Amino acid sequence: MPNVKVKRFAAAAVAAAAFAIPATLPAAAAAQGYPQQNVLPVWPDNPNDASIGIGVIPYDEIAPKLNALQAQSNRVSARVAGKSSGGRDLYEVVVTAPETPAETAQQEAWKQLFQDDPVAARTNEALLANFKPTIFVNSSIHGNEYEGVDAGLRVIEELATSTDPAVEQLLQKTRLVVNVTANPDGRIAGVRPNDAGYDPNRDMATISQPETAVIRQLIVKHQPQFSLDLHGYVNRTLIEPTTPPHNANYEYDLYIKHALPLAIGMEDLIKTLPYPEVQNGVVIPFRDYPNGEWDDWPPIYVPMWAMFHGAIGQTIEAPLNPRGNLAAAERARRVAGNIDVHTAVIKTALKYSQDHRNQLLYDYAEYFRRGWAGEPNVDIPDGFVPGWDAEDNYKTEFPRSYVIPTGPSQRSQAAAKRLVDMLIGSDVRVTKAQAAFTAGGKSYPAGSYIVDMHQPKRGVANMMLEPGMDITDRVNDLYAAPAGWSHGLTWGATVDTLWDENPAVATERVFAGEAPGALPAGNTDLLLDPQDAADLRTLNALGEQGVKVHRLPDGSVLVPASARALAAEQAAANGSTFTSPPASWQGAELDKVVVAYTGSAEPRDVLADLGFEARQVSAATLTTGLTDDVDVLVIGGSLNPTSLNQANRAALDAFLARGGGVVGVGTAGAQFVNNAGLLTATATAAGGIASGVASMVNNGGPIANGAQPHSFILQPVWFSNLGAGAVVEQAYAADPLRAGWWPRTGNSGRGNAAGKASIVSHTTAAGNGVALIGTSVFARLHGKGLYPQLGRAILFAAAPLTDDAASTSEDGTVGGDVPATLGLTLGAPASFGAFTPGLARTYTASTTANVISTAGEAALTVSDPSPTATGHLVNGAFSLAQPLQANGSALPATAKTYAGPVSNDVASIEFTQAIGADEPLRTGSYSKTLTFTLSTTTP
Ligand SMILES: [Zn+2]
Repeated sequence: MPNVKVKRFAAAAVAAAAFAIPATLPAAAAAQGYPQQNVLPVWPDNPNDASIGIGVIPYDEIAPKLNALQAQSNRVSARVAGKSSGGRDLYEVVVTAPETPAETAQQEAWKQLFQDDPVAARTNEALLANFKPTIFVNSSIHGNEYEGVDAGLRVIEELATSTDPAVEQLLQKTRLVVNVTANPDGRIAGVRPNDAGYDPNRDMATISQPETAVIRQLIVKHQPQFSLDLHGYVNRTLIEPTTPPHNANYEYDLYIKHALPLAIGMEDLIKTLPYPEVQNGVVIPFRDYPNGEWDDWPPIYVPMWAMFHGAIGQTIEAPLNPRGNLAAAERARRVAGNIDVHTAVIKTALKYSQDHRNQLLYDYAEYFRRGWAGEPNVDIPDGFVPGWDAEDNYKTEFPRSYVIPTGPSQRSQAAAKRLVDMLIGSDVRVTKAQAAFTAGGKSYPAGSYIVDMHQPKRGVANMMLEPGMDITDRVNDLYAAPAGWSHGLTWGATVDTLWDENPAVATERVFAGEAPGALPAGNTDLLLDPQDAADLRTLNALGEQGVKVHRLPDGSVLVPASARALAAEQAAANGSTFTSPPASWQGAELDKVVVAYTGSAEPRDVLADLGFEARQVSAATLTTGLTDDVDVLVIGGSLNPTSLNQANRAALDAFLARGGGVVGVGTAGAQFVNNAGLLTATATAAGGIASGVASMVNNGGPIANGAQPHSFILQPVWFSNLGAGAVVEQAYAADPLRAGWWPRTGNSGRGNAAGKASIVSHTTAAGNGVALIGTSVFARLHGKGLYPQLGRAILFAAAPLTDDAASTSEDGTVGGDVPATLGLTLGAPASFGAFTPGLARTYTASTTANVISTAGEAALTVSDPSPTATGHLVNGAFSLAQPLQANGSALPATAKTYAGPVSNDVASIEFTQAIGADEPLRTGSYSKTLTFTLSTTTP
């Protein structure tokens, strides 16, 4: 039993916090004043517009109305801000008193001053006298919640045409910005989602849809102090603020002190309206609902997303459902009531912006001041506003900086670019190091990205980059999942957290991420280890151009030297990094891979992002869909082989008989492979709002090699009772919930998922490649880091290899002589950075191990050889209370297992160290020398 041992330190230090002075940027130049008018294109009359039957304004009448208002009034500016997924115009309207170009430039400069120097902003007398707070109204993001559009238009018209001097005065001191119809596709079709099938008001954390990209752009551009999202229908009317849980990255005291009285002011005005349903007041969830029933935890909703930018965000649900079988008079009454309610809400916000102007602007500046100062979450005392108590208090820790490395320690430069672009698009300030530097005990090349958390929108950055927290014990419910979403852990890029250090290196601010792609020198064959959707796009583009490649047992793909020019083109286009191939290899030949899939929008769009030619099939269309060119069937929605009609069953049988591969996702995937007789597997799903970020153990294999140790989950699925020959490439860790909400016990609880399979590969006796994936690769298009796992599963299923699976490796012989080799090289030592006394927190640190093994199976384990406080970090005579964990397990831990030989596999080892709030910490370094062992029982 040969062993290789390497010793390295896992270390941390207790250090003092650093301090830095914020930089300022020059104000953006503005060339135009207001109004900024445009003649909007008019859409053809559409008799099928669902608005007509409801009695609200049809889509095609909106542009003419706005054109007429612009012609009539110099207070109205309209433009097309973007297109819906169905290709329709999205209208941005600004209502304000006319401004000279100089006045507009001054407003823009003040807007910038709030961001750059909030203390200067709130003590600037000219600003305080003349700055125009902005109220952003987002109308009817749910298409069949109609009246927000009509209310927005009514308020625009009233403000545009009123001769009341009070209105003139108001418009001298405010801007109203209206996204007139946030989801025209849904409005016309009379449904909630857009034409692509997505609910845009669950997409703000992901920005996968054009409608949400426009909303994000409007919020970043206008920096509103108020963000009103007009919906329906909750009887009596519902107005936020919400119940807990409250996301800890808001400055919640600054929000609730305005949001609650504002909501009560809205209620007071609504109660005066002539509708019996609203006479007894409205529902304010913060005041009226139990914990968790209507919350602002996930950043998926528009008003919540605006709150991360300092706005007072509120969802408003109009009271009277006008849909269904109603008498015409009753429907008209309800529509009128809803328009009146939404109008009252907007008017109350306008009034509030003037009545509380000084406090509002002071607090708005305070939001950004705290960011620059890097201050911790404020302790908000019980009774801060009526009803505020311990269940409302959520806190997080802000690290000093995040680093998104470039170079060898970045697992995917394409993923890094996507994350950087997401941060920048969300108004986070990102810089690039102009020289190499060392931080947190790790070396970074020039070009690495740094997010200095001393910045005005540190809440936005932290909301995306922090892991999130386990809120299972604090709430029994959420309005909607996910309860965790960390882009830092689940979007495929390596992100390092520096708790107490902002790298000491010259930087420049950047406005886009970069992924230039790379090829090794020389005219050799090329190797691509697909670790991002971008890499699959590269490979699929090569397949499209007729390049034949080979998939190697570890999931990497060899591209022949003859295709070098094409590979270079795709590497540049997609940001893929090719390396040199091993000196000798065996692989399965692949030409262009064609996919058929079941399911709807999400599988369609993930497969498109991966670059596969993919066609949708269903139980009724296998005869026409499973044509001879289809290599792999992806089960993204239910398809039961045992209930197919004869012709479709025959088409499926023929597909399988010619070696077709199957990738099954979730419970539908397991049901299919069971009923098709391909693999026995029991699938169990978590229910309801079980969601967040799961900790995974990667065992390697063609699909899971190089996978991150975290996955996005939304009702995750795990597989057990697996048939013979199934290989578990990835499993849920011993405590599988890193962040989010998931009960511990019960059949669908996380305790039952612990250690169970999440990615399975299997080759049937007949040679079909079969894979199962239980993590949420499709859900809301959010799990970007999971996409390459689906892509690798498809490549595996398209061309399984006999030595992919442990069960078949023992009778395989390798050509040529291979000396028995076990090689182990460790990456940079793991460092937790600084431990902060008095704070309950789980610290993370990671390292990598490069593994070469010619053995039939091998295991990489991490152990603590010390007899002193074995398994715990020590600092002289002091030791930490809780054990050090490696990949989710206390030491000795199995970090990774190999079912077959591997060459240069990079195993990632994540260390976690929990420290309690009341745990005493001694100044100095806590560390342990650990032993990493690569061992085998079948050399
Ligand atoms: Zn809604």
